[in-house]
Amino acid sequence: MSIKPQVSWTKQIGNVLILLASAFLLANIFLPGLFGTSIPRVPYSLFIEQVEDGNVTKASLGQEEIRYQVKGTENQPGQILSTTPIFDLELPKRLEAKGVEFAAAPAARNSWLSSILSWVLPPVIFVLVWQFFLNRGGGGPAGALSITKSKAKVYVEGDATKTNFNDVAGVEEAKTELQEIVEFLKNPQRFLQIGARIPKGVLLIGPPGTGKTMLAKAVAGEAKVPFFSISGSEFVELFVGAGAARVRDLFEQAKKKAPCIIFIDELDAIGRSRSSGNFAGGNDEREQTLNQLLTEMDGFSAGDATVIVLAATNRPEVLDPALLRPGRFDRQVLVDRPDLAGRLKILEIYAAKVKLDPSVDIKTIATRTPGFAGADLSNLVNEAALLAARNNRTTVAQEDFNEAVERVVAGLEKKSRVLNDKEKKIVAYHEVGHALVGKMMPGGGKVSKISIVPRGMAALGYTLQMPTEDRFLMEESELHDQIATLLGGRAAEELVFDSITTGAANDLQRATDLAERMVTTYGMSKVLGPLAYDKGQQNSFLGDAMFNPRRSVSDETAKAIDNEVKELVENGHRQARAILHANRELLEKIAEKILETEVIEGDQLQELLDQIKPVERITVSA
Ligand code: ADP
Repeated sequence: MSIKPQVSWTKQIGNVLILLASAFLLANIFLPGLFGTSIPRVPYSLFIEQVEDGNVTKASLGQEEIRYQVKGTENQPGQILSTTPIFDLELPKRLEAKGVEFAAAPAARNSWLSSILSWVLPPVIFVLVWQFFLNRGGGGPAGALSITKSKAKVYVEGDATKTNFNDVAGVEEAKTELQEIVEFLKNPQRFLQIGARIPKGVLLIGPPGTGKTMLAKAVAGEAKVPFFSISGSEFVELFVGAGAARVRDLFEQAKKKAPCIIFIDELDAIGRSRSSGNFAGGNDEREQTLNQLLTEMDGFSAGDATVIVLAATNRPEVLDPALLRPGRFDRQVLVDRPDLAGRLKILEIYAAKVKLDPSVDIKTIATRTPGFAGADLSNLVNEAALLAARNNRTTVAQEDFNEAVERVVAGLEKKSRVLNDKEKKIVAYHEVGHALVGKMMPGGGKVSKISIVPRGMAALGYTLQMPTEDRFLMEESELHDQIATLLGGRAAEELVFDSITTGAANDLQRATDLAERMVTTYGMSKVLGPLAYDKGQQNSFLGDAMFNPRRSVSDETAKAIDNEVKELVENGHRQARAILHANRELLEKIAEKILETEVIEGDQLQELLDQIKPVERITVSA
């Protein structure tokens, strides 16, 4: 149920009436005579002439107007005329001399009214205009001055909270982590009595359309609690302070309904790092909103009602570090694009909602759609159903799906990466190359997952290396290992395809950076000795280190540094090639496997990697 108060129509009519009345009064004050009977106005000289001729019977002398009556006939009273007075001290004497009956004009009857109105009306009109713009621009709840009210949609019962974990597929890890939150909401006492602190914030990180909003709703649905939903961009308003007031109001509403969930979509709209991009003076409104959010999150403590804030973003790297501190969004859940098995499950959910032809093979569709997020898949099924209906069929056939895939892919190409078969193969060998070299040279950690599901915004595939323990110091040999592992991808491409692609750019960048640091920061080069050639952190604040990070060195030293860096990277490259050359068969075997399953991890991966043939280390010549 969505609560959205309306501005009542009686109030609207009232406003219109007030506006009309004020317009009428104003016109009356400023344009006298417009609505009254008008009296002919004559020149002052004519008035005097008429007095002198003895034609005037009565006169009323006002400061701004003289009204007078001329002599009439027996049947008809004389006409009333007016004129504008001039400064004429002789006038009373003249009138007296001609026997005109005269008096000063009474004070204007509505002068007190007009003076009050001139004070009261402008503010009234101002408020009315203000209200008009707010109602038009805000579209938000209830009438005047509602800018401080939060626009959160509240779902107490109904569709949103009927969503549960079964409706979301292909994000099993995220579901497992969120299951815990459901437990907190269902039975907070169980945790509180041991003295555990219930988490306040959970950040869902992942590309658009992967089901973050759905997961948040499912948590509320599973725990059967109300669900407040608002998008980060709705907090950011024209008026400084309005966003902060909205945050306050949102938390107030939520606390009344606790236990409950607040879901903030697009957290990055308010949660951008405060230090970044502030050269132009920053954005006060966003900063205040963010501060208020932090204050509110710190404000409710364990004793308070359970309000858990879930937030979603696809750009975690721009978030302010303050948001990620303990007690705020200290839990982060990755919601990535689904792998083959995940896509299959999602397709099954949506395919169950349409009439399928028995010939349809969902597995094939899932295989053809790497890189599709949940939203794309649900769109795909709908597209296929539309095509079937357009072709006057009663069930959705395989051909509809094939055409729909093409349509969605053509539409997606700009948005997300969908690889063709050749690219997919290159990515597979590239990643297995990293994995094999990483296995042989474990300085970068234990290889724990290989995936060729395009991930996030940049990578087409990835090899995950997990550190086996916390490390604070790195040995030189481990850095050599890391450089070799980074070059494993490029080496595999060379070996298998005898050509290279642009896909290794990021690897090369990282390998070169690492090699440069070994030489210039860690003093690991025998040729150059234990000297720090870069300036490190010193003077780095707007100092010349920003423009020239190296110490002033002679041309020869600069050349030697470049040579050393090159040597280190090339050595890693040779090492990687040697390992892959010796393990060509294993490389092919794992690559074929991953082309089928897209992800290999856990025991299966370790079993495969354990078959590696050892290769001697190439010692660095320097
Ligand atoms: P996000 O918040 O990550 O951008 P949404 O949760 O709004 O994505 O997903 C949009 C739509 O896509 C959902 O309403 C749902 O129909 C579909 N969808 C996305 N991911 C999944 C999933 N993992 N399982 C089932 N449906 C999904």
